[in-house]
Amino acid sequence: MSSSVATQRKAITQPAANLASDLAWRAKILLVDDNAENLLALEAVLESPDQELVKANSGLEALRYLLDEDFAAILLDVKMPEMDGFETASLIRARKRSEHTPILFLTAFKNEEHLFRGYDLGAVDFLFKPIVPEILQSKVAAFVQLSRNAELLKRQADVLQRAEQKFRALLEAAPDANVITGPEGRIDLINERAESLFRYSRDQLIGEPVTRLVPQWSSESKAPLDHQLFGVRADGSSFPVDITSSPLRTPEGTITILAIRDVTDRKKAEEQIHQLNADLEQKVTERTAELTRSNAELRQFAYVVSHDLKEPLRTVAAFTQLLAERLGDSFDSESKEFLEYILGGVNRMTDLIDDLLMYSSLDAGESRFMPVDLNVSLRETLFNLHAVIQETGAIVSGDPLPQVMGDHVQLVQVLQNLIGNSIKYRSIDTPRIHVTARKQADEQVIKVSDNGIGIDPAYSEGIFKLFKRLHPRQEYSGNGVGLAICRKIVERHGGRIWVESGVEQGAAFYFTIASASER
Ligand code: ADP
Repeated sequence: MSSSVATQRKAITQPAANLASDLAWRAKILLVDDNAENLLALEAVLESPDQELVKANSGLEALRYLLDEDFAAILLDVKMPEMDGFETASLIRARKRSEHTPILFLTAFKNEEHLFRGYDLGAVDFLFKPIVPEILQSKVAAFVQLSRNAELLKRQADVLQRAEQKFRALLEAAPDANVITGPEGRIDLINERAESLFRYSRDQLIGEPVTRLVPQWSSESKAPLDHQLFGVRADGSSFPVDITSSPLRTPEGTITILAIRDVTDRKKAEEQIHQLNADLEQKVTERTAELTRSNAELRQFAYVVSHDLKEPLRTVAAFTQLLAERLGDSFDSESKEFLEYILGGVNRMTDLIDDLLMYSSLDAGESRFMPVDLNVSLRETLFNLHAVIQETGAIVSGDPLPQVMGDHVQLVQVLQNLIGNSIKYRSIDTPRIHVTARKQADEQVIKVSDNGIGIDPAYSEGIFKLFKRLHPRQEYSGNGVGLAICRKIVERHGGRIWVESGVEQGAAFYFTIASASER
């Protein structure tokens, strides 16, 4: 691992200073002497809260302690029965655990043979009896300090190792391929996901420039950036990737952690959606063109049919007229009645053709809605109905009406059909018709009410259907197309139409339409 990563890692380890102050640790000192009084004397000199004294009164007992405990130092009496200090020292050194534990020999003899033997056996020092307390204390203190430092180092190494393990585990657990680069943009570290994604082994990549994995990657990027790029595998094949890069400034330079994600599936899904949208758009365009064509054809068809149907009717009417003129007074009254029937039939047929043409043209025509002043529409309606209003003495009143969004001609048609019906289906009383409007949310509800014969509520739905009539023609003229036209127009404007009525209670027709100001 490079030094830059090590530096970064240091940031997540505990500072050494804390460790030292946290070190609640007492150095253990093993005192070995067969004489209990000597042991007590040593204990009295070395007693201190920083160190723990363990007493053994034979070499064997000392070896037993050393089996499972570590000591900062061993004070070993040379002259002991059974196993003397030198034998004990050689056994201590023979054990792995205690091969480096400092041994101080305590001896009454200052002869050279003793000294050489002692040093050969790994003694670090000799203390000669009678022991001078200050010398003993300062020598032991030095070993305690040494041992303390060693313990500190060991603990620091442990902390570092744990941090390293945590760091590795985090790196490996990441869902993305993680690549860590040094200041030169060279790869310092990668995780397993990166190995499998790019099909390289770690060894092949460490020290390589990151552009080997992502050729367009620029090490210039200093701030965290999100890039959409392509990754290149060991075999040269490429795939789309999303990269989240997090640069980290360290004293050695900027190191960068790249989280690389394979977005092949997401790209495919996006492309599919894109393709589906394009297909859909294409279909809508084709369907619209088809509809426009068939609308034009339908318009043409309706026009031709009405023209062709009206042509023979005109001929019948013209020749009936001629016949009436030619025969003049020689016609008996019954024949005249027949002629009137013929002309009446022709007129009704012409009206029906006109109404049906109107009805079908509503499907074919395009609607262009504009603000319409309903007061103007009502005035025009009354003008068109002028003759029948005069003839029947009908009284049409109205409140000021709003501006709505719609087709003026079609709205006149609706008002004309509704008011025309109100007059047609009058009772014996003078027909009184009232037109009002009420705002409801963003729509206007227009109401046309009359004092006519009314409608059985059982038929309030049916009357809006084509050719649906409630009376024989002998009673009331008509072809049952008027309300069907009204409904189609209102619905094309996005509104609803309905009737509220009862027999002999007059009728109130309502329709809704968008207010002009709301659009
Ligand atoms: P038409 O008037 O040609 O018969 P419409 O579609 O205009 O056809 O009306 C359908 C039927 O609804 C009428 O035959 C009539 O019975 C009934 N109707 C329509 N308007 C009224 C009204 N204002 N009062 C009573 N009945 C009505």
